[in-house]
Amino acid sequence: NIVQVMYVWIDGTGEFLRCKTKTLDFEPKKPEECPVWNFDGSSTGQAEGSNSDVYLKPVRLFPDPFRRGNNKLLLCETLKYNKFPTESNNRSTCNAAMQKAKAEIPWFGTEQEYTLLDEDGHPFGWPKNGFPGPQGPYYCGVGANKVYGRDIVEAHYKACIFAGIQIAGTNAEVMPAQWEYQVGPCEGIEMGDQLWMSRFILHRVAEDFGVTVSLDPKPIAGDWNGAGAHTNFSTENMRKEGGIKYIEEAIERLSTQHARHIAAYDPNEGRDNERRLTGRLEASSIHDFSAGVANRGASIRIPRSVGEEGCGYFEDRRPSSNCDPYAVTEVLVRTCILNEFSK
Ligand code: ADP
Ligand code: MN
Ligand code: MN
Ligand code: MN
Repeated sequence: NIVQVMYVWIDGTGEFLRCKTKTLDFEPKKPEECPVWNFDGSSTGQAEGSNSDVYLKPVRLFPDPFRRGNNKLLLCETLKYNKFPTESNNRSTCNAAMQKAKAEIPWFGTEQEYTLLDEDGHPFGWPKNGFPGPQGPYYCGVGANKVYGRDIVEAHYKACIFAGIQIAGTNAEVMPAQWEYQVGPCEGIEMGDQLWMSRFILHRVAEDFGVTVSLDPKPIAGDWNGAGAHTNFSTENMRKEGGIKYIEEAIERLSTQHARHIAAYDPNEGRDNERRLTGRLEASSIHDFSAGVANRGASIRIPRSVGEEGCGYFEDRRPSSNCDPYAVTEVLVRTCILNEFSK
């Protein structure tokens, strides 16, 4: 009856993950059945050395695609000595917002872009001196001279399916060695939970290949596409016939809260995204709010099919690849559904 449970949590950077394993003598079916654990927060940027124990509160169990069998991955929240959430624990307030907005049945779908890096920190597969040819042939490409690292992408895809993550698809991106996968549609807090665990699985798969995953929103300066985490969002009203009215209302509310959203869309309050949201290379300007049907240079894009059908969802293109999906989905719900902020 031995089960290995890998506890996984977000560290003090708000971007990187940590993990450690506990042996249990039973198979947990719910996260609450797993013991609360702790770790040395002074080694993860989450506590002082003199008061270093941080609690791990189990919140979501996944089948472990690496150890398989009955073994588990366990997503945890981090709590301080006084049982309050740590600074980088955004799940707690996100969950509160999701509970309040539950009746509207909010759905999210995130497009996670990332870049594979070789051991030397240079993009995987790029020439060691200089650059590959200009962007154009790489997006959704096939062939050894177009895409780099497909075996990692494939292994990650299968591992996510094994773990029960709603991975919706994957594609090669515009910059070589850059890829995307989508998770969703997920309801409420599930978006953050599943996206974080899908990232853990990605880092863990790449580790076996001696390659690292970068979520930097602009890994290579210049005429190379940045990496985002486009967040697609809908409520039940938006998905029903005539829902475009509710989509437009949400966009109107978003237009009054641009700075608030930019601050929530990367772990450094907009400073990471600044390098990516330049108004060029399929990205909007960090300084302006804009929206449009099929417009990939806007903050918000209404997909063409949604415009035609008059209902569905919209895409917020601003979140950075290294965003915390708990922070992103929380502020979307507070602005668009709960209407908590004044103009
Ligand atoms: P893009 O055309 O921007 O590249 P993708 O196909 O990569 O779009 O991603 C679209 C995402 O939208 C997927 O993650 C999907 O799960 C999500 N999605 C689809 N329908 C809805 C909806 N009604 N509400 C929220 N998200 C949705
Ligand atoms: Mn996409
Ligand atoms: Mn993309
Ligand atoms: Mn997109």
